[in-house]
Amino acid sequence: MPPVFRFAPSPNGFLHLGHAYSALLNADLAKAGGGRLLLRIEDIDATRCRPDYEAAIYQDLAWLGIAWEPAVRRQSDHLDLYRDAVDRLAARGLVYPAFDSRAEIARLVAAKDEVAPWPRDPDGAPLYPGSGKHLDAEQRALLIASGVPYALRLDMEAACEIAGALTDELSWHELGHGPDGETGLVAAQPEAWGDVVIARKETSTSYHLSVVIDDALQGVTEVVRGADLFWSTSVHRLLQILLDLPAPVYRHHPLLRDAEGRKLSKSTGATGLRDLRAAGVSPEEVRRMVGLAAAA
Ligand code: GLU
Repeated sequence: MPPVFRFAPSPNGFLHLGHAYSALLNADLAKAGGGRLLLRIEDIDATRCRPDYEAAIYQDLAWLGIAWEPAVRRQSDHLDLYRDAVDRLAARGLVYPAFDSRAEIARLVAAKDEVAPWPRDPDGAPLYPGSGKHLDAEQRALLIASGVPYALRLDMEAACEIAGALTDELSWHELGHGPDGETGLVAAQPEAWGDVVIARKETSTSYHLSVVIDDALQGVTEVVRGADLFWSTSVHRLLQILLDLPAPVYRHHPLLRDAEGRKLSKSTGATGLRDLRAAGVSPEEVRRMVGLAAAA
């Protein structure tokens, strides 16, 4: 079976050199291994994703000379599928609605921090400290019926317990490197993320949930993406075990940084692919700029 790769951008801004590196690396690896390259548009966040950004993704990738296999998978077309997965997790008691607003969470964390430093997740965000887990069914039903917004959170402790009973080893095969050089067989540490959001009242999914479902449905065998998502793989492995989905191997690549050492962002004009194109930069020069050898 040929290896299957995917590039999975979110259409919430224009692509920059960091995306070019990731997309070209996926394309090069697919080519070298006689594999397939798929494209997935991760557009579940309706408030930030825009059709013009999606159109620009196709233009920019085509300009770079990247050929992806049709059909493109758009996550917003599959919300029912993700909802089914949430229902399956909920049926096992692994998901609960949490009604706290961002401000309430920040207040709770500040109060906890005064007593002792409250734990942060691998991205530096405080773990969910809320009381949502302890509401009873009647209180939850009442709040939902009264229209209060909520996030559906994974009960991490219960999820890890079930996963532990299903597998003796929650780990993944890393062909690249983590932030501290982790490579080879890496032990997943999903508990480091606390009770992650799995879906929201207004969106029946989350990044973590749709990514594992789509990688499985698209038959992805090797996930090549930026090292900023390295530790998210812990949550992805946990969800794969809980939802009985196959595990691809992972290759996290270093992030490109700007002259000041900052991670490139979608607002970084100077490294935007369309701006570079408008300035007369060629796709071959882009390859050089991101440190890839000339195309074979
Ligand atoms: N959609 C994510 C992003 O644009 C990438 C997700 C992934 O590769 O797993 O950062």
